[in-house]
Amino acid sequence: MAARSDKPRLVCYGHNMSFIILKPGKERRLIAGHSWIYAGEIAAVHDKAKDGDPVEIFDHRKRSLGVGLINRKSQITVRRFTTQKEELDKAFFRRRLQAAAAYREPADAQRLVFSEGDQLPGLILDRFGDCLVLQALTLGIDQRKPMLIELARELFKPKAIVERSDAPTRKLEGLTETKGVIFGETDGNVVINVGGVRFAANLLEDQKTGFFLDQAVNYQEMLRFCSGKRVLDCFSYHGGFALYAAQAGATTVEAVEISEAAVVRARQNAELNGLLGKIDFTCANAFDILKKYDVEKRQFDVIVLDPPTFTRTKQNVDDALRGYKEINLRALKMLVPGGVLATFTCSHHISTELLRAVVVDAAADAHKTVRLVKTLTQNADHPILPAIPETEYLKGFLLQVI
Ligand code: SAH
Repeated sequence: MAARSDKPRLVCYGHNMSFIILKPGKERRLIAGHSWIYAGEIAAVHDKAKDGDPVEIFDHRKRSLGVGLINRKSQITVRRFTTQKEELDKAFFRRRLQAAAAYREPADAQRLVFSEGDQLPGLILDRFGDCLVLQALTLGIDQRKPMLIELARELFKPKAIVERSDAPTRKLEGLTETKGVIFGETDGNVVINVGGVRFAANLLEDQKTGFFLDQAVNYQEMLRFCSGKRVLDCFSYHGGFALYAAQAGATTVEAVEISEAAVVRARQNAELNGLLGKIDFTCANAFDILKKYDVEKRQFDVIVLDPPTFTRTKQNVDDALRGYKEINLRALKMLVPGGVLATFTCSHHISTELLRAVVVDAAADAHKTVRLVKTLTQNADHPILPAIPETEYLKGFLLQVI
């Protein structure tokens, strides 16, 4: 892997690769380790460069900063793949995929490639048993799909590969949404084992790439507080936290989720694990349920708050913070002494510090003192590059009322 400490090198023009030249000062983010170049930061693009092509990146003094893929249709016009001058050919992508696989402990279900987190901007690759799910989020990756399918078959030997490039962010790259089976045969149905709990999922129909893999480590963090306890899992999707709580011997488990399809799937998962009578599923708005239970002065020992992102833009942060405050306040009010709150945000615009401030504020209003048992983050198969804050998207706290 290229060391970022490498001093930018002086190079001569006249090689085959297209290139871009940055405006003065606009090299700083790249030198600090980020990989994005915005349209407004580019002084000139070599006229040979077609969208999707590799381009060498030069600062205004003509020092090389590595190689990326260009797409003029995107505000993030170049995404750097390497700090070295090297070809972004099949051998390059094979090395990157091998490095991503080597970093992970093999598991039945896992994220094999996490975009910038694995120095493969725009590519998501998940393993679900003997199937893979590929998501292409950028033009550069989209154009390289045939090669990536070949490499994924060579390295991971899947029975089938499903494409889930139905992410709305593709629009920002000038791409339409698409999904389907792109290799082998599958109806999309899989049953996977995540840390001892079995989950059914449909890779073609369920949210994101079929399953939320990012919480696996946090299920384990929470379950040790659940034996003999009353547990409330809000925003439960396919029942993730609720299933672990029930399996760990919770006395009562309630799961609240707004999507009917997700609740159907969650019930199926409970059945798969012999936990059907042990979890009470409610298809409802968690805000309403939390308010109702708060008014009824209900009490719980463990509450999980894992909401979807309340804001996709910086402008909405204040509204989002009010949403986080409301649910955290109600949850904290309902927790008995010794009770545990697992609270999360998956919004890019809400930092760990902002979430901490919300929780401190909510605890004060609820007249509760809380202890930080653990700061929570995404599962290790979603690697974080500290130089690229956008790679750290799931933030949470495990708190105990003392
Ligand atoms: N905790 C889950 C993932 C949660 S994702 C796991 O471990 O797998 C967030 C979920 O919240 C989604 O399933 C979404 O359908 C649901 N959701 C969105 N808005 C909601 C609301 N107002 N009330 C309840 N659920 C909601």
